[in-house]
Amino acid sequence: MENGGVDDDAAFDRLASAVYIAARAGAVDCTAAFDLATSRLEVSPLDPDATELASLSLEFAEASQPRMAELALSLLAAAGFCPGFKEEPGWLASLEDAVRLVNRDLAATGIGRSCRLHVDVERHGIENAYVETWDGGTSYCGISPDCGADPVPALVAVAEDAQDPLMHALWAAWPVCPLHRLGVHAGAYQKAAVWWCGGDGGHAVAAIGEWPDR
Ligand SMILES: [Zn+2]
Repeated sequence: MENGGVDDDAAFDRLASAVYIAARAGAVDCTAAFDLATSRLEVSPLDPDATELASLSLEFAEASQPRMAELALSLLAAAGFCPGFKEEPGWLASLEDAVRLVNRDLAATGIGRSCRLHVDVERHGIENAYVETWDGGTSYCGISPDCGADPVPALVAVAEDAQDPLMHALWAAWPVCPLHRLGVHAGAYQKAAVWWCGGDGGHAVAAIGEWPDR
């Protein structure tokens, strides 16, 4: 952020979060939109999006709402604002769905334990989600919120994040290709999230969440 101290950054983050949520719902508050536009104009006085948003927010016209929402989202992106789970709760829901699918594969491979999703803001100063095993283990980096934006990348990210702590919890690679006895990796293949085995030139063992029962 180009502006001053921590307080300014915190105030900007609160404004950005509120405007983002409103813009995604298609109804931007004119005062907040004006504040966002002027904060952009302070650092970039000729910014056309900010100029247009500032003048639309002064008009208070209902018909301008969709355009204001569009401008607000583009200004937030330009300011480097990254939405988190608070702004995009659907992203968290899709990561939760993905954990359920990984748990289904744990059950299919005869492991009677399951993982859960844990959101932690403290560890890296940013809000990431971590797949946590039954013994409390997690990966180091976790999953950034935007991974939840699309179901296939969400599932790949969750399965990848689960593998490291699962390996520690099980003291073994998981899951293992039944044909080649090799540990497999999560990946995207033909627009699906799959468990990929490197044996015999590589093959998809199963879609993640559809591991064949023993
Ligand atoms: Zn294999």
